[in-house]
Amino acid sequence: MEPAGLEPVEMEAAREAEEPPGSPALPAEAPRGCPPVSGEGALPGRERERERERAQERGRRGAGAQGSAGRAVRGRARRTPGRRSGVESARRPGVTVDSSKAKTSLEALKISLRQLRWKEFPFGRRLPCDIYWHGVSFHDNNIFSGQVNKFPGMTETVRKITLSRAMRTMRDLFPLEYNFYPRSWILPEELPLFVAEVRMMKDSNPSWKPTFIVKPDGGCQGDGIYLIKDPSDIRLTGSIQSRPAVVQEYICKPLLVDKLKFDIRLYVLLKSLEPLEIYIAKDGLSRFCTEPYQEPTLKNLHQVFMHLTNYSLNIHSGNFIHSDSANTGSKRTFSSILCRLSSRGADVKKLWSDIISLVIKTIIALTPELKVYYQSDIPAGKPGPTCFQILGFDILLMKDLKPVLLEVNANPSMRIEHEQELSPGVFENVPSPVDEKVKVAVIRDTLRLMDPQKKKRKDTQCQGAEQAPGASEEPPDAAPSPEAALPSLCLKQVFPKYARHFSYLRLVDRVAALFIRFLGVKGTTKLGPTGFRTFIRNCKLSNSNFSMAAVDILYIDITRRWNSMGIDHKESGNPGMCLQAFVEAFFCLAQKKYKALPLHKQVLSLIELCECRLAALHGKRLVWGCGLAEPRGTLRATGTAPGPGCTGPARPHGHQVLRLQKPSQLRALMCRDRTGS
Ligand code: ADP
Repeated sequence: MEPAGLEPVEMEAAREAEEPPGSPALPAEAPRGCPPVSGEGALPGRERERERERAQERGRRGAGAQGSAGRAVRGRARRTPGRRSGVESARRPGVTVDSSKAKTSLEALKISLRQLRWKEFPFGRRLPCDIYWHGVSFHDNNIFSGQVNKFPGMTETVRKITLSRAMRTMRDLFPLEYNFYPRSWILPEELPLFVAEVRMMKDSNPSWKPTFIVKPDGGCQGDGIYLIKDPSDIRLTGSIQSRPAVVQEYICKPLLVDKLKFDIRLYVLLKSLEPLEIYIAKDGLSRFCTEPYQEPTLKNLHQVFMHLTNYSLNIHSGNFIHSDSANTGSKRTFSSILCRLSSRGADVKKLWSDIISLVIKTIIALTPELKVYYQSDIPAGKPGPTCFQILGFDILLMKDLKPVLLEVNANPSMRIEHEQELSPGVFENVPSPVDEKVKVAVIRDTLRLMDPQKKKRKDTQCQGAEQAPGASEEPPDAAPSPEAALPSLCLKQVFPKYARHFSYLRLVDRVAALFIRFLGVKGTTKLGPTGFRTFIRNCKLSNSNFSMAAVDILYIDITRRWNSMGIDHKESGNPGMCLQAFVEAFFCLAQKKYKALPLHKQVLSLIELCECRLAALHGKRLVWGCGLAEPRGTLRATGTAPGPGCTGPARPHGHQVLRLQKPSQLRALMCRDRTGS
């Protein structure tokens, strides 16, 4: 097997990173003592963290005792002469955060806000806040402005079945790039396929003795999960019919540390969907099993403490070790594992590059669906909040260090304490330093990245620089920023930083843009038959070989099948066509039209043809003055040559809204359109 499943270009992408996430923690020079994660100072990580916290605590107390005067003194110390007084500068209003719906992330959020000296509204606020911190979903609060830490539809999009489908679509298009997700089948609908495929693989390789893991859709914390050796062992009675599940190839040879299986929880910030911006936390958590690992046999299949790494399960094992140290116990930091691996000579930079690649590709697989939800909840032109979200990526490392994606959590636990049994039956919540170290940094630095005032300050600076070249960078009313006292960001941007290596994978995104364009009614996520017909007509996809009657049949066939799957969908009562059904229909059309090409080229050709014809149509309507309203979806351009049937020039790289402004451009497009190209 290929060591890490990376294309050379991706390797280059990640290696090119002058500082890949976590790499500061990699003991290139000093593998022995686990070097500091952030690379500052000589204090060991935890000690430095404590020292920093003590310093901040002293600062807070000082500020509390001295009030604004105390802040003003600090302000004056940094002020350039001739500026406003420190007292004035201290008046800068802090960022306001509504934490009333933060639920279990409240403790970590509170610590973060104290460190940032932002203003918390624990019971909500009548006036709008800058940021709303929700514990569960976008809809926890009714909000119309500011920023919220959840995307609409994220929970649905990362459910086990939806994620498996999205990964399969991407794997169909790009089999080599998407080999980091275990082969999966959806139950009950794909049970016959699962049985047939396993039989075929066993026939072709009789020495193959696979194990499979069955995971209920929407389940969490290991709930309802079990291992099987043969498809006939699937428990068909009861739950599977009422509760769909995913059955997945079980990774039998995971990397072990201290003879134990473990997985990694990595925190990923989806900062923005359009344009796509992704950050990865430099440190995460490693969650350990509590029984030494053995490859699955019929005898040990049921031993959850050996096979499942869930904290919520293993905490009930007598072997669970709570430790305040980051590199011992049943929950450790990921950086401590990297240290260990590095000291054994493992190429941890390569491992990071594989992880970055896995994260970017997974998010690329999720964005099409997310965009459909987004336009439905926050239609273009409607005032609404903007969104960001911290996701929890669960990753397993194989023996050869290849990372495998297990799942994505829309609401990763942000608890910083754990339950301890003081005496039989008596439990108490005690702080968990390892959780606190990792999670507070992730929340605080997410807030720093989302800081609305930073953006305003940047804008002011830009304006100031334009108006008065040579003026100081600091705006006149700037108070000393608490940023100065904070450690460097624990979140590292990976997209758009490595966009050029991954943008070619964003085909389904472009199919989703076409889908959204024809949705018509604001607020819907499903395409009606008229919308589908209009799409076919406007893109001129119907011809003598493919009549409009055949179009209707295609629509009905695919839509009916998808709606019969009983997927938990926002509009499960709406009989229309969901995005995934549209993608299937689109692939079908592409295969029909461009027979000889591989699937991704067929799909790309059809996308370019559609985009080109829609651009021409849009141009024509503008010329005739019928004035199409601004299309709901944006037309994306890529750095590829125009698709077959479109004779325009190659379009620039990146993602741009196609704007046709000059009459000559419009005429050229109309001409092309008339020739049927
Ligand atoms: P849940 O949401 O219920 O935690 P997961 O998909 O995270 O479900 O699976 C639970 C645990 O099962 C994981 O933490 C991991 O230890 C183990 N696991 C899941 N899928 C696989 C797999 N394909 N191969 C090996 N172990 C797996």
